[in-house]
Amino acid sequence: MLARYTLTQLQQLLYTGKISCRDIVQYHLQRTEQCAHLNAFVRTYPHEALAQAEAIDKKIRQRKAGKLAGLVAGIKDNIVYRNHPAQAASRILQGFTSTYHATAVARLINEDAIIIGHQNCDEFGMGSSSENSVYGPVRNGLDPALTAGGSSGGSAVAVQTDMCRISLGSDTGGSVRQPASFCGVLGLKPTYGRISRHGLIAYASSLDCIGILGNHAEDLALVLETIAGKDEYDSTTSGLPVHGYSKNIITENNPRWRIAFYAGLTDNPNLQPEVRRCFGTILERIQAKGADVQPVHFPLFEYMLPAYYLLASAEASSNLARYDGVRYGYSSNATSTNVAYRQTRTQGFGAEVKRRIMLGAFVLTSDYYNAYYIKAQQVRRLIRDETFKILQEFDFIITPTAPTTAFKLGAQHANPVQAYLADVFSVQANMAGIPAISVPCGKDQAGMPIGIQLMAHTFQEQKLLQAALWLHQLKQV
Ligand code: GLN
Repeated sequence: MLARYTLTQLQQLLYTGKISCRDIVQYHLQRTEQCAHLNAFVRTYPHEALAQAEAIDKKIRQRKAGKLAGLVAGIKDNIVYRNHPAQAASRILQGFTSTYHATAVARLINEDAIIIGHQNCDEFGMGSSSENSVYGPVRNGLDPALTAGGSSGGSAVAVQTDMCRISLGSDTGGSVRQPASFCGVLGLKPTYGRISRHGLIAYASSLDCIGILGNHAEDLALVLETIAGKDEYDSTTSGLPVHGYSKNIITENNPRWRIAFYAGLTDNPNLQPEVRRCFGTILERIQAKGADVQPVHFPLFEYMLPAYYLLASAEASSNLARYDGVRYGYSSNATSTNVAYRQTRTQGFGAEVKRRIMLGAFVLTSDYYNAYYIKAQQVRRLIRDETFKILQEFDFIITPTAPTTAFKLGAQHANPVQAYLADVFSVQANMAGIPAISVPCGKDQAGMPIGIQLMAHTFQEQKLLQAALWLHQLKQV
């Protein structure tokens, strides 16, 4: 199990010649074969990965290797990698090959990380169970009858089962954190604009973030400091300095953090009882460790999901208008332009994506624009302001990451609204643009993991990673 080492520990083995990059890549490739039934990877790149490993081994001998030497990463199928296909798990991008690297990928490679393959997910990131995929569903490594969560389900399972060290996923409303919670790994969604979206296939541009999944907060910190920062290809990236997150991740024993939780959550009947219990116990433990834990009221809580689903769908309907079968991807044979568009889109998109496009197009029509779209924008503004108010007084807001642990595959097919409820705690961070992380903190009776979420003010990733490490080291519930 390579996952038990942090990258820094692994690099000590690398630099003392106890292991080679080639060994590491071979090990992970073997894991992808052993775990093929989980359907986490949609493509692996074994020859290239091994060739890169040999080149990096040489650099290590010459003491010239980058700071991520030995790190094997997987990327979600909606993040592009030069000269490789990327389909966002959709039929409509069948046959598409990227001519460029996503900025996050280019920055990983610059520091000698190795990309081992593309990972399965919900189509265009729309979903919470990684079942809306042209490649078929992802299965949870702890119980293949259960979902991995979504939409970055393949990315979470890959890290959970040691198929790679870290994964890059994307998080528009919880898609990194919720699967991290279901799979028992860490999942970080940074501040909006901290990591470039260049090369991330768009779902809802004002909410989309590339996020990082891994087994160690230290690894997340190293990867974040490598890929974050200003990028001329994404004008929404921030120019604020990127800290050396990994150097400052350990804090003194008793940080006097002020931590807010939503009043009423510890006895909310909509939470799975084990999640509720775990959350309550964690609150007690962090208090015993010196944190100042206080209940707060957040009256906008019930508006969060409806506003999110309106805005995300509206942006999706506009972003996905580009898939017309003319320039790239899947194209149906037809004799007239209109028929070609209709057939390409009818055959190319899955059911959930169509639902979002229709909902989004509806709320953007002139008759409903003010009543729905503008209203949802106003609600988003209020959510952001109220969230900032809490975070001016507190270091963090703590919640369960999701209301349940991993559910059975197929359980939500009949009822999409039920699926949307999985995001009840996660969409706030996207609506407010703040960073958030899911930390595995316990297990339910069946042994399935429970994640706890911490949210912090914008660009407070340093503090958030420190607290994640601190929380991760508490005894599991
Ligand atoms: N489940 C949410 C949705 O379907 C979140 C998805 C995401 O974060 N990409 O919109």
